[in-house]
Amino acid sequence: MTGARRHAPVICVALGVERRALRAARTAVLRVGMGPRRAAATFRASGGLGGRPVLVAGVGGGLRADVHPGDVVVATEVRGPDGSVRQCPSAPLLAAELRRFGLVTHLGPIASERRVAGRAARARLAATGALAVDTESIWLAPTQAPYAVVRVVVDTPEAPLLRPGTAARGLRALRTLRVAAPALDAWAAATGPREVRLANPRSFCAGVERAIDVVDRALDRFGAPVHVRRQIVHNTHVVRELEAKGAVFVEEVDEVPPGSVLVFAAHGVSPAVRAEAEARGLRVVDATCPLVTKVHTEVRRHSAREATVFLIGHADHEEVEGTLGEAPADVVVVEDVAAAGRVVPRDAGNVAYAMQTTLAVDEATAIADVLRARFPEIQAPKSDDICYATTNRQSAVRDIAAGCDLVLVVGSTNSSNSLRLVEVAQREGVPARLVDHAADVDLSMLVGVRLVGVTAGASAPPTLVDELVDCLGGLGPLSVVEPATDPEVLRFTLPKEVS
Ligand code: SF4
Repeated sequence: MTGARRHAPVICVALGVERRALRAARTAVLRVGMGPRRAAATFRASGGLGGRPVLVAGVGGGLRADVHPGDVVVATEVRGPDGSVRQCPSAPLLAAELRRFGLVTHLGPIASERRVAGRAARARLAATGALAVDTESIWLAPTQAPYAVVRVVVDTPEAPLLRPGTAARGLRALRTLRVAAPALDAWAAATGPREVRLANPRSFCAGVERAIDVVDRALDRFGAPVHVRRQIVHNTHVVRELEAKGAVFVEEVDEVPPGSVLVFAAHGVSPAVRAEAEARGLRVVDATCPLVTKVHTEVRRHSAREATVFLIGHADHEEVEGTLGEAPADVVVVEDVAAAGRVVPRDAGNVAYAMQTTLAVDEATAIADVLRARFPEIQAPKSDDICYATTNRQSAVRDIAAGCDLVLVVGSTNSSNSLRLVEVAQREGVPARLVDHAADVDLSMLVGVRLVGVTAGASAPPTLVDELVDCLGGLGPLSVVEPATDPEVLRFTLPKEVS
């Protein structure tokens, strides 16, 4: 066996019909025979499959009521009858790939039994949380190499084997397996050793931690529901978790029942929104980041002396909406260098500029340079409006990007600072993608990618980065490096209503 072939992934199936269903697969398919004895013998005879990445595929039995014939189950772990457990860390990536092929795919534990599980055994296994059962997978788990298990469900507690319809369900399962073949190939092609460079710092900033804490404490203090205007921070996972605890997210104040508790999100609101909440008799808790509040204060100060304020930022961003609302007659949003070259103030001798806190530092600086050149008298912010967290994360991603084959930025699509991290990495000449979570990583992105930079926007939970790194570790040996840097120590005090 050549060196390359020794490490080539292999798809293991029990039955000839499963091998035929996967005949279009580019990955080698090995028929190991049915049941633990044959699977174990094949594994031994091949010297543990030569340390190759192993993907066990084929049909299996469903255990849970919501797992139907024809559905696919991808194992997060495989449990043996002797209590042994083998983890499958890349399962979320494989499940997402199967869903991209239109397959109904569940993610959860699979149990391997010594014989075909009868009704009582299935009930026992279902009670442990397992989604499917087979008779081979645990005996084919390599000691070190990547391992994944995919089962297409033929029979379920409601549609057991040896009943009319089994043959039809079997054919349907084999058709599903055929459809799954390219996804299995994608997993196999993405396996291999990798290095991950973690940007430092990354993920939550002080303003985001404070905003989440505000909602948590408001729920504790006032009880559910606590209403929140707009997303508390721009991250779908944070919002979902708070919803599960009793937070109710609304677009506008008029959706909140009078007398309720309303939290303003970290991006800030205009005075008009505050006035509306007061008129409605709402108990307001303000989670606006103090660094956003600082920009509001600057704008009010310039407006009080009747200056035109150029607000460098994205007009459709909630933070800019809120800041603009401080002095709509005096603020002009400037989105790019071209706009900076065109804007006309009331009085060229009485102008100032401010910035959205989450811009790309280099782009915002270029816009400010144009304004300064056109209006030498312009008043600049006392300290940078682009906040420390945005600046630090952009500098950190720039530090790790050089030499990477790919940079993955964890963050939601409406997160301005996450999008800027993608752009910063791309400007370093590196392909970069925004992913909401690990399952957003298309396996094809990882083929041939050996050095991956990973970072996260200021609104993305650090656990999502951990999950992404775990998934990558499920595709092969992974070394993780993280440059040392001084920790961010800034913390903000909480609003008095929840402190
Ligand atoms: Fe505050 Fe900056 Fe975090 Fe926005 S990114 S919440 S401005 S610290």
